Amino acid sequence: LLSLEGATVRFGGRAVLDDVGLGVAEHEIVCVLGPSGSGKSTLLRAVAGLQPLDGGRVLLDGRDQAGVPAHKRGVGLMFQDHQLFPQRDVGGNVGFGLRMHGAAKEQQGQRVRELLDLVGLPGAGHRAVASLSGGEQQRVALARALAPRPRLLMLDEPLGQLDRSLRERLVVELRELFGRLGTTVLAVTHDQGEAFALADRVVVMRDGRIAQSGTPLDVWQRPADEFVARFLGFEN
Ligand code: ATP
Ligand code: MG
Repeated sequence: LLSLEGATVRFGGRAVLDDVGLGVAEHEIVCVLGPSGSGKSTLLRAVAGLQPLDGGRVLLDGRDQAGVPAHKRGVGLMFQDHQLFPQRDVGGNVGFGLRMHGAAKEQQGQRVRELLDLVGLPGAGHRAVASLSGGEQQRVALARALAPRPRLLMLDEPLGQLDRSLRERLVVELRELFGRLGTTVLAVTHDQGEAFALADRVVVMRDGRIAQSGTPLDVWQRPADEFVARFLGFEN
């Protein structure tokens, strides 16, 4: 579904993405792990079309996305800080992407209700965003990202703001949800427990490069190098 070939992004001469090659198959859940500043968010932004490449290519279904604007790529992105619109109610947030895609009004309302059921917030459409808990807000952001049925859903620290017990519960729910919907997911996290619980495959980044890519078990049992081992918390 997705492939990156030699993807490179530079800021001020420094390669923040450095010749990255990565493939994501249909229905696959891939989690990108790595320290702060390793280029995880930049990778997602490049795939979404929000960050131009200085080298290499992004292909979706084999088609080069150079020059294809973000809203025409058919991918959804849930941002690191989820960026809900505080002046809109929950339904207005979830329906936002649908309006952008020109769906008819009745269809929009129906779809918003479906999505709120899906993320476990039935009937919350008229609530003010500010009245929701952090976890509920993240569910709303997730519903908004899912609304236009993206063929590739990208999540940047989807559970970032939440406490551990809620994260652990939501990870299980998300995995079940994505399996049921057959969603292809590229998610970023710096929490390895989250990545290992959610992913079919884990990608570890270091300084704009992919240090290792493999199943959670592979990466856990056979870290590619000392950096990956350290990152996973093994002593020397
Ligand atoms: P975190 O885990 O903290 O979110 P990250 O892996 O997502 O980190 P990125 O946001 O991709 O990291 O940033 C990678 C590097 O690129 C960082 O050093 C960051 O300061 C730099 N960077 C990102 N965007 C820009 C920009 N627009 N201009 C200059 N430097 C940038
Ligand atoms: Mg980031």
